[in-house]
Amino acid sequence: MTTDADFIVVGAGSAGCIAAAELARRGCGRVLLLEAGPSDGHPLVKIPFGLAWLMGSKRDWRFKSAPQKGLGGRQLNVHRGRMLGGSGAINSMVWFRGRRDDFDGWNVPGWAWRDVEPAFEAVEEKLQPKQMTGVHPLVEALSGLLGGNTNAAPTPEYETAGAFRFNMRNGRRWSAADAFMRPAQDAHDLKVRTGSEVDRIEFADGRANRVVLIDGTKLTASKGVILSAGSIGSPAILMRSGVGPAAHLQEMGISVTHASDEVGENLHDHPAAGLHYVGPESGYGLTLSQLPAWMLAPFRYLFTRKGRFASPTVEGGAFFNARGEAGEPDVQCHFIPFMMDWKGSRFTTGSGYFADVCVCRPKSRGRLRLTSADPNVSPDIDLGLFNDPDDVETLLAGLKRLRALMSTAAFGKHRAPEAFPGPEVSSDEALRQHIKNHGATAYHPVGTLRMGDGTAPVTPRLSVAGVSGLWVADASVMPAVTSANTNAPSMMIGYRAAEFISEDAG
Ligand SMILES: Cc1cc2nc3c(=O)[nH]c(=O)nc-3n(C[C@H](O)[C@H](O)[C@H](O)COP(=O)(O)OP(=O)(O)OC[C@H]3O[C@@H](n4cnc5c(N)ncnc54)[C@H](O)[C@@H]3O)c2cc1C
Repeated sequence: MTTDADFIVVGAGSAGCIAAAELARRGCGRVLLLEAGPSDGHPLVKIPFGLAWLMGSKRDWRFKSAPQKGLGGRQLNVHRGRMLGGSGAINSMVWFRGRRDDFDGWNVPGWAWRDVEPAFEAVEEKLQPKQMTGVHPLVEALSGLLGGNTNAAPTPEYETAGAFRFNMRNGRRWSAADAFMRPAQDAHDLKVRTGSEVDRIEFADGRANRVVLIDGTKLTASKGVILSAGSIGSPAILMRSGVGPAAHLQEMGISVTHASDEVGENLHDHPAAGLHYVGPESGYGLTLSQLPAWMLAPFRYLFTRKGRFASPTVEGGAFFNARGEAGEPDVQCHFIPFMMDWKGSRFTTGSGYFADVCVCRPKSRGRLRLTSADPNVSPDIDLGLFNDPDDVETLLAGLKRLRALMSTAAFGKHRAPEAFPGPEVSSDEALRQHIKNHGATAYHPVGTLRMGDGTAPVTPRLSVAGVSGLWVADASVMPAVTSANTNAPSMMIGYRAAEFISEDAG
């Protein structure tokens, strides 16, 4: 029988681009990469500041979470990139591997720090993340914030602050699609199809051999299928394919191929809450005095790749212990030297800056469930935010320490007073209320197809338990979120997947 490919990879995001490119580079046969969204050819994708427009655009899946109990019933935007490059094409490009003991703590064979470090190095050889230069003076001032001012990029391993590293090249976004996918399309047997949204996988004798698109097109794979549709997309496709909690699938009218209770469980993200500062001569913002700079900004960017359009908004931040104990960092701060709105409108006037804290290792867990067997209907995304009260308490302590740190930072003439929630919101109870009313996430959902032994839906070598010829390569396999931003770890997972699959596929 003629097949469309040897391997079909579903989802050209941070992990999928690398899994597909590496399978092709390793000579594993014909690789077909399917992406629901369009190309990443739009100029806003390449311009770092463009993400301000991309979030909420048609290149975003624009999911909404289920009403969150811990947030008084609020629903959050769950932004996910929908184009070549995936969420890595709309993100801020902050680059962190995570902490070494994040990986050791996963306690999954083949995923300890010593196992994943070479994969990070291989990814970084192509992505070449670098500490940002030309940051706003507010961000420059962060490097002295936690002592030991070395101007080195912060690390989650210990208390540090300063300008972050980013996967940008010459002031442009440099995603997994740029670094891995396109070179493999040119040099190896990798084909890429955009506008190809996958509904489900079909099996023959328990072996994944067909991918069904939402328009009914069926594509065949001789060696197998790799799900890289991300922490929301991959479990949804898997459930529509009949692999998941049996009672739930039956309720949705889906016949069960393999009962796997934990599919969609363990959904979690970094919970976050922040402080806004507003004042004249402060951060970037829409003010009369900054109007000329904004008008020149596109030209400055075009000719020098510098200036505010070269900023991915988050420019730096810190890792620190929320309670100020000598212990290891348990919160991360993202610092944005831009005036940010807190009233719900996208654009706001004034000059200011914003700093948040996120819990590095949240304990709360939610879950993802289908609401219909129809792939055009969004799943139920319960992030489970603040289900565990410890996360609120860590965030509360982190906000208090962040406020203290911001008050001592050497911001000079750019210093601005706290405008929201404002210094009067200072009691523990009032800050808890602030977290409830304004807390959100860092857009790092993971864990819905956790890898591991026993009841885990995915094995340590990334194959879907209970069926054959089907693997998962994306952020959904993380048993627990890493202590910092999740793009680099997702890419590492894509790389590791190609290593395993090239050895294991029959
Ligand atoms: C706004 C935003 C800012 C962020 N900032 C940062 C940051 O600065 N640093 C950082 O480290 N992390 C950041 N992240 C998180 C990071 O980008 C993600 O963790 C990472 O991209 C996840 O990679 P992935 O491969 O698991 O999924 P994705 O990159 O999301 O890839 C999934 C791909 O699958 C496609 N897909 C989904 N369903 C289907 C289907 N049914 N059929 C076909 N294709 C499908 C999607 O369109 C997408 O292209 C951010 C995320 C967002 C949304």
